[in-house]
Amino acid sequence: MTKRTLLQFFHWYAPGEGKLWHEVSERATDLKQLGITDVWLPPAYKGASGADSVGYDVYDIFDLGEFEQKGSRSTKYGDRNAFAAACKTLQENRIRPIHDVVFNHRMGADEIEEVVVRRVNPEDRTQIDIEEFTACAHTRFTFPGRDGAHSKFIWDKQCFSGVDVIEDPDETGVFKLVNEYGEGQWNEEVDDELGNFDYLMGADVEFRNNAVYEELKYWGRWLSEQVPVGGFRLDAAKHIPAWFFKDWVGHMRDTIGSDLFVVAEYWHPDMETLTSYLNLVDNQLMLFDVALHHRFHDASKQGGDFDMRTIFDGSLVSSMPEHAVTLVDNHDTQPLQSLEATVELWFKPLAYALILLREQGTPCVFYPDLYGASYSDTDADGNEQTVDMPPIDCLPKLIEARQKFAHGGQTDLFDDPSVVGFVRHGTADMPGCVVMMTNADVGHKTVALGPDHADSVFIDFLGHHQSHVQTDEHGVGDFPVAGGSVSVWVRNVAT
Ligand code: CA
Repeated sequence: MTKRTLLQFFHWYAPGEGKLWHEVSERATDLKQLGITDVWLPPAYKGASGADSVGYDVYDIFDLGEFEQKGSRSTKYGDRNAFAAACKTLQENRIRPIHDVVFNHRMGADEIEEVVVRRVNPEDRTQIDIEEFTACAHTRFTFPGRDGAHSKFIWDKQCFSGVDVIEDPDETGVFKLVNEYGEGQWNEEVDDELGNFDYLMGADVEFRNNAVYEELKYWGRWLSEQVPVGGFRLDAAKHIPAWFFKDWVGHMRDTIGSDLFVVAEYWHPDMETLTSYLNLVDNQLMLFDVALHHRFHDASKQGGDFDMRTIFDGSLVSSMPEHAVTLVDNHDTQPLQSLEATVELWFKPLAYALILLREQGTPCVFYPDLYGASYSDTDADGNEQTVDMPPIDCLPKLIEARQKFAHGGQTDLFDDPSVVGFVRHGTADMPGCVVMMTNADVGHKTVALGPDHADSVFIDFLGHHQSHVQTDEHGVGDFPVAGGSVSVWVRNVAT
């Protein structure tokens, strides 16, 4: 049984010109051999910025690179045929395609319509002006390039809860659309940052409109008839009422398959918030472990001053491991992006060992860490910056080690501020390993592995440490680790 291991197969600056879907197809066999079981793909539908869109400025969820819209038929990643081929190739390699679902907002409306709005305090969205007034807003989506193919649904002002731009009068801000739903209030069961975080950007979708709700369910069923669907990654979940995803995910599991893997991006480090969200969605989802990502970031910045015994403190994987998708970085945290909190290069092997080799959590590997990435963009001060993200040399080995050696019970060795580690004891069929790491100078730990490992030789599967470890007649060995490094000690016979 292959242990579930996700790969986020894109980053913010992934190359355009339709290269990505082909690359997925080309790499699928290698990914399978490496031990990747699930591939998270970027949004496959047309964004408002057409062939330049990363996919989160969603325009038309029924245009998978099939229609001449927003200046291009293909999306940034390729056309519909290449997308379908990529998903099929993954499936043939027994890798589940995980589709990115961006439901919160729409951008790039086809027409302006007259709307009634109320001004909202952007810092406290519960403060909605009593005064209503008429303006024009970009809220009508007719998709003329698609011309009713796949769905005849027209989105209009009844399908949205708010906007950030109005015309006549020309203003920007946050505006509550006065529609038939919710008596002028925002959707409930959303994050309470800024009072009520329903509104994020663009034309914010009105989930209380039953026609919208049915259309989004129809889209999920339709997608599963176009391409293999192994699961979903739900974008911007904290801006979408929890009841909606509770229903929608249940519907998808009923109609597509009960084993769908679903992870929501509820980007919040606080466990109380995540617990209450999980309760609202009937615990049907996984969530990204934002808190652990922050711990990795902090540890990588503080170097030897960080107390490694606390690396899992406050994390989702420590409190609700069965719901935790653990990650080191993603397309939002990479350098020059909105949530930039990149984990420093030296620490990434340690962080990946901590998500890939332990019993708890479902790890998600980030594309640049496996394959590298170089790009340039402007920083927060408007200066052009060039970024080079080299591949993490030992990452393929760590993914391989997850499948080969991360088996059986676990004993933690978190008894020193710098040198920490853990033992995976193996099972009757599969070997275990001794993982040692330090954020300071060279270190070692004496570990009693028991009589099954008496008089045995261990080597570092990662090759970071050249020596051999010899256990004594009781199975006790002294396992070293190089400074600022990680070693995965495995029985010589097991390799
Ligand atoms: Ca919303």
